[in-house]
Amino acid sequence: MAGFYQEKRSVQSRDARDRIAVGLPNNVVIVGGGIAGLAASIYLARGGRTVTLFEKRRYLGGRAVTHLRHGYRFNLGPHAFYRGGEGSKVLAELGIPVRGGVPKQSGIALYHDERHRLPTGLWSLWATGLLTAADKWEASKLLLRIRRLKKASQFGGISVRQWLDRNVARTRVRETLEALLRVATYCNEMEKLNAGAALNQLRLVMRGVIYVDEGWQKIVDALHSSAVAAGVNFITSSRVVRVDHDGAVQAIEIGGLESESQTETQSYLRPLPGDSRGTRLAADTVLLAVDPATARDLIGEVSWPPMTPVLLSTLDVALSRLPQPKKTFAIGIDRPLYYSVHSRWAQLTPKGGALIHVSRYGGGDQAELEALLDEMQPQWRDAVVHCRFLPSMTVSNALVPPAPAARPAAVTPIRGLFLAGDWVGDVGLLSDAALASARDSAKAMLAG
Ligand SMILES: Cc1cc2nc3c(=O)[nH]c(=O)nc-3n(C[C@H](O)[C@H](O)[C@H](O)COP(=O)(O)OP(=O)(O)OC[C@H]3O[C@@H](n4cnc5c(N)ncnc54)[C@H](O)[C@@H]3O)c2cc1C
Repeated sequence: MAGFYQEKRSVQSRDARDRIAVGLPNNVVIVGGGIAGLAASIYLARGGRTVTLFEKRRYLGGRAVTHLRHGYRFNLGPHAFYRGGEGSKVLAELGIPVRGGVPKQSGIALYHDERHRLPTGLWSLWATGLLTAADKWEASKLLLRIRRLKKASQFGGISVRQWLDRNVARTRVRETLEALLRVATYCNEMEKLNAGAALNQLRLVMRGVIYVDEGWQKIVDALHSSAVAAGVNFITSSRVVRVDHDGAVQAIEIGGLESESQTETQSYLRPLPGDSRGTRLAADTVLLAVDPATARDLIGEVSWPPMTPVLLSTLDVALSRLPQPKKTFAIGIDRPLYYSVHSRWAQLTPKGGALIHVSRYGGGDQAELEALLDEMQPQWRDAVVHCRFLPSMTVSNALVPPAPAARPAAVTPIRGLFLAGDWVGDVGLLSDAALASARDSAKAMLAG
């Protein structure tokens, strides 16, 4: 992939080597080369900081990578970019384009053995056989209310379950709304999700999402190119194992250098003496753009509230042709299932091919997903080019919880230590949260 080769160049270039000077004033270390770390690195480098980003893998992008298989571009499960979300504001601010197709909001509602038109707007709501006339009346009033939503704070921190209990009387309407919220947030546990954040996300989805041309790797590569242009130094295949602090950040320790660039990489960093666990580098400003478990390991004792990860199992399938071209989207109303032909809207395949994601919110086995694909695309097995099953992907490390719980803030009580990721801050969900917290951390550092 283009990103990988560019990344190798930046790791090995003599220019980059000469510029790396972790531990000097004005320098920032970023741990984690997903979209949060990449976005933060651009803000900081453009703001005049000398930035060194460590990524434990050979490649950048984290969960936003796209794998190229036989000419087909596989995101890690279904990825939709929310137009008008915080992430789109951050990328616009950084000058990163997001190109792709906006899927039509129509599809099939799977309800036990019944198949109906999926109600996504007022027109499809009145046309669907899924709901009775009384259901439709209640559902249309709710949809209008959600569209007019202004502030998440007006919900007072209640959970989605509490909001549904208070506002939805009819069972089928509730099931339908839960299914739409599931698609918008990926969350299958309505009691663990903040109602304001969830309804805001649904409102974003109703405005339309983007399936990104060439996959999310395109966003990763654009972020990486901008970071390189801004002067960010990248050290890949390099795991940070500890952040030393005594109320203020003192140093980082690096271990697990895996690639052939290990000796070379170590030789141009400035090791501090006296530690056998890894290479110790002086640093006073560190941004952790990693998952919460890793962040906890790196800094030791923290008092973060428990976080519930959002999981998904997904069957990602490349076909040489689409047996049923009209069946491009379906969701389960009574079961947490998702089916979408992403290649119908985005450039992801060679001509005539199709790329499909069939998923189960919360995780589940492959057989159920294959059965859904059998129903939507009979004979798909005859057209398979490549197929992979990912049994338990972490879509989000933490959604916005109901009050009084809250996600950790981007600025920590440890001087010089900042956080970014989909589990940080109170703004947005999924990649919106990752990018918003990256921006907020970077701006706090630049202001400090
Ligand atoms: C199946 C699936 C579907 C999704 N769908 C959507 C969607 O439709 N819309 C949406 O907005 N978002 C979606 N997401 C979420 C989106 O992919 C993430 O929010 C985003 O990619 C997170 O970026 P990040 O940089 O915060 O974290 P990550 O991508 O997890 O990056 C963290 C990086 O840190 C590195 N790292 C970890 N530990 C260390 C260490 N000790 N030293 C050095 N490096 C380290 C990791 O290797 C990784 O590269 C989906 C995710 C999945 C898995």
